Amino acid sequence: MLSLKDASLLKTQAFIDGEWQSALSGQTMPVLDPATGQQIAEVPDMRVQETQQAIAAAEKAFPLWKAKTAKERALILRRWFELIVEAKDDLAQLMTAEQGKPLSEASGEVLYGASFVEWYAEEGKRVYGDLIPAQAADKRIMVSKEPIGVVAAVTPWNFPNAMITRKCAPALAAGCTMVLKPAEDTPLSALALMVLAERAGIPKGVINVVTTAQPAVIGRVLTDSPVVRKLSFTGSTGVGKQLMRQCADTVKKMSLELGGNAPLIIFDDANIDKAVQGAVISKFRNAGQTCVCTNRILVQSSVYDEFVEKFNKAVNELTVGHGLQGAFDQGPMINQAAIGKVSELLEDAVQKGARLVCGGQEHTLGGTFYQPTIIADVTNEMRVAREEIFGPIAPVFRFETEAEAIAMANDTEYGLAAYFYANDLSRVWRVSEGLEYGMVAVNEGVLSTEVAPFGGVKESGIGREGSRYGIDEYLEMKYTLLGGI
Ligand code: NAD
Repeated sequence: MLSLKDASLLKTQAFIDGEWQSALSGQTMPVLDPATGQQIAEVPDMRVQETQQAIAAAEKAFPLWKAKTAKERALILRRWFELIVEAKDDLAQLMTAEQGKPLSEASGEVLYGASFVEWYAEEGKRVYGDLIPAQAADKRIMVSKEPIGVVAAVTPWNFPNAMITRKCAPALAAGCTMVLKPAEDTPLSALALMVLAERAGIPKGVINVVTTAQPAVIGRVLTDSPVVRKLSFTGSTGVGKQLMRQCADTVKKMSLELGGNAPLIIFDDANIDKAVQGAVISKFRNAGQTCVCTNRILVQSSVYDEFVEKFNKAVNELTVGHGLQGAFDQGPMINQAAIGKVSELLEDAVQKGARLVCGGQEHTLGGTFYQPTIIADVTNEMRVAREEIFGPIAPVFRFETEAEAIAMANDTEYGLAAYFYANDLSRVWRVSEGLEYGMVAVNEGVLSTEVAPFGGVKESGIGREGSRYGIDEYLEMKYTLLGGI
């Protein structure tokens, strides 16, 4: 079903020290189309030794890459950006095949992913230091920033391209080298990016990709290595906490982009039609499998019925199907376990009194397709209020006052993204300031962009990706004192 213009982008070997390699054991693991369960390809199932080779390659490449000027690195990254954009259609096809998202969403992600490479190619040139007025006349104080060294990156399956470029673009621009372990469900997008990195002239060893069906084994090698000075992880909060513990022994710097429980609040002064549009995109994009996906829709009592009615109409218009077979709004979920989780959450809510407005079942297409679903009259005792749904179920809660809405929104250990719809200017300020979240979108359902800092507070993570702040995650500050002047 794949019809790539450039067939060489479908790689079935991992990428270590500039070489395409099989696992030393010869073992492979299958890559499946989540829509059909059919095998698309096999990639190496690597273990400890290959990971150590990758770390050694990154260590060897580091001094040479660091010694390049920021402009030299920028020219290479810029070329990589251009090659990614040129290959957009093929990269999108590979992504839809292994991840399931509709082709239009996959192309959008490729361009979004590329935008980080473009942004950081430039931002690397602006790693400025400081001269600080010294405390004594015969001294001078200088602050400079240096690349941290070898970085390990571990990425999830829900954004198989952008979660990689969001890490490696700032790392490489800063002068770091990297070992990347992509998610086992979606290695093909990562490997295709490496084909283009090689073509762009990124020197060997600067970026290495190890594929495996045993992420914990590779994770342990990466976290135990004293050579690896930083781990950047995007994924679930549980695994993030585990990796944090593992990084303690070598005191690694960490960036963690973890789970969320995003509220989308609709106040009585909101434009309800716009709120419906925002709720649809924020909830059902990527079949609800996005860390910044709306997890809870909170609606003020006086507009509750109007919202639910209009939302129901909009959700009923969503089309579901295989992303390579037509222009659908929603693809399959990633695997059967994901279907099991959403079914369980729905059953729990309905049993505890939630009202099913639409959907609520596996889709007639079979496989891992699930119907876009709305449940109303949802309360805090239901599991959907606390857990990341990560699927196409939209629970709608009711509130009376602004203070109650803010309290409900903040009643979670997560703090990644929050959305709200309101028009009263003072309310917009009050609510924005009251939300304990790393990112807040007002009257918008999508907020990710390379120019703004992406990241969460509380148990949603540490650090930021994108924007001018994102490169600091890969830099160490050095204070130099010059005396006897
Ligand atoms: P996951 O934590 O299961 O896996 C993420 C990555 O970690 C994968 O590459 C996996 O192979 C690897 N991994 C799993 N166990 C490991 C271990 N013991 N050691 C080392 N690596 C290990 O998460 P997932 O199911 O792939 O992704 C979904 C989660 O990611 C959701 O919770 C979602 O909210 C989160 N996410 C967060 C962001 C963000 O920016 N905050 C973005 C996308 C996804």
